Amino acid sequence: MNVADIIIVGGGHNGLVTAFYLARAGFKPLVLEARTVAGGCVANEAFAPGFVAPLANALGPLRPSIVRDMGLARTVGFIQPDPRLVALNTDGRALVFSTDQTRTIESIRAFSANDASRYPEFCDTMERLGRFLGTLLEMTPPDIDEPAAGEMWGLLQTGRKFRSLGKNDAFRLLRWGPMAAADLVAEFFQTDLLQATIAARGVFGTAQGPWSAGSGAVLLLNSAADRAPGGSSLSVKGGPAALAAALADAAQRAGAEIRTASPVARVIVRDGRASGVVMRDGTEITARAVISNLDPRRTFLDLVDPIELDPGFLQKIRNYRSRGTVAKVHLALRGLPTFTGVANPADLHGRIHIAPGIDYLERSFDASKYGEIPAEPYLDVTIPSLSDPSLAPVGQHVLSAHVQFIPYRLARNESWEQRRGALAQTVVATLERFAPGIESLIEDAQVLTPVDLEAQYGLSGGQIYHGEPALDQLFTMRPILGYARYDTPIEGLYLCGSGTHPGGGITGASSQNAARDIKKHVARSA
Ligand SMILES: Cc1cc2nc3c(=O)[nH]c(=O)nc-3n(C[C@H](O)[C@H](O)[C@H](O)COP(=O)(O)OP(=O)(O)OC[C@H]3O[C@@H](n4cnc5c(N)ncnc54)[C@H](O)[C@@H]3O)c2cc1C
Repeated sequence: MNVADIIIVGGGHNGLVTAFYLARAGFKPLVLEARTVAGGCVANEAFAPGFVAPLANALGPLRPSIVRDMGLARTVGFIQPDPRLVALNTDGRALVFSTDQTRTIESIRAFSANDASRYPEFCDTMERLGRFLGTLLEMTPPDIDEPAAGEMWGLLQTGRKFRSLGKNDAFRLLRWGPMAAADLVAEFFQTDLLQATIAARGVFGTAQGPWSAGSGAVLLLNSAADRAPGGSSLSVKGGPAALAAALADAAQRAGAEIRTASPVARVIVRDGRASGVVMRDGTEITARAVISNLDPRRTFLDLVDPIELDPGFLQKIRNYRSRGTVAKVHLALRGLPTFTGVANPADLHGRIHIAPGIDYLERSFDASKYGEIPAEPYLDVTIPSLSDPSLAPVGQHVLSAHVQFIPYRLARNESWEQRRGALAQTVVATLERFAPGIESLIEDAQVLTPVDLEAQYGLSGGQIYHGEPALDQLFTMRPILGYARYDTPIEGLYLCGSGTHPGGGITGASSQNAARDIKKHVARSA
């Protein structure tokens, strides 16, 4: 009989962060990861000889307290490019978002003096609202039915902070959350390109267009985690895999054990309590608690025998939306492409936004609703080999395109095997409009559809955040109402992945919150 203290199923970055904090608290976590490397979606794709692309173009960014606690500043070469973002227009001009606000304002002024004058106010407002929302991201959502005394105190404090926002900001928050991101940005800016670049943070990785109600909430929450309008572009030397290795190393040094190539088939439940796991090879490992880093659908629909769950709960998990809308296209390029409107290649070290207007974004979303590949998809592009030449052969470059909105299920029952080439062609044709001649530089390419992301990274529906970030799947409702506190209906079974509050990308936020709560639960039940 194999015995462990606490089992963590899945060694994604959230599983590793959970393992680190539990080990530091004196537990002996055992991480069981199906893939041959830990890190989950924090991964490199070596897709052609000498060419390495990041699966995720930029980090969430990681919570600063995690970087500090895990000593990552010493072990990871973070890259913070400046400019952080360049947005391309159809008229051949570009908007440059620098880490220096004055430089950004000058770039905006070339499009609109009015927008340039409103930009500092927008940044200040987002900063103030972000500070308040940041406190929500850090807290465990309250128990709606029976809030404990400590939680009431926490809620009271949150209420105080909300009031201290002042009437104007408090009203803004209440009004902007349910609104469309397109309307929110239009309250500040007139330039379509600027509106689209900022609103894009409200739809990134979601199944919502900028005109969808509630995309305002996603924009606000993303701004809380990353205050830079349009998003920052933090990356890592050696690609995301280098961060994954550093996270795994920190967790192991703290006392966690990590086993890769170790897929879990099932969680063992006895008398309503999780008591271990069965590996895919049939081996059983017992433990006093099991924590799943898998998305909620995969956790409850694949790992747990349905007999152990209330049918009403199961129905809610089946209704939890996890439809992917993202594909990745990686290009191996013979040389550096020239983007119209970007004279200085140094300006290309950050992210390159291709969605020159709100309607462009919305039309792209529209197509995906009907299972079609958009004629002009929203692209969020990086050329990571510019900052880190080790990712491509000398003098050559790797281009990583996050492609949205790409449907998981295609119209007319077509398979992705039939349409993979069409997707690649559409992406290259879109790039060609903004970087004429790029097609002639392509040596090799890789296309990862939502179906590939599901198969290769274990993401239900290919959803990159383990479940759509949408108003009805956030905070006390992530993943579902009544179970937003990292616990589950099965005693001793917990969640720690992106499908839990506050979700999001590579931030470690869900797992840092989860570890804080789970260690109290486990200690109490000992
Ligand atoms: C294409 C793409 C682009 C993205 N772009 C960005 C971006 O630019 N910025 C950003 O911040 N975020 C981005 N994200 C999102 C971000 O990468 C994820 O939200 C985040 O990494 C999820 O972390 P996690 O640890 O919760 O889960 P995961 O990384 O999904 O880890 C779950 C782990 O569980 C393992 N597993 C699954 N089943 C089993 C099993 N049965 N037994 C054992 N192990 C199992 C998986 O192999 C995986 O390692 C992107 C994601 C994708 C896919």
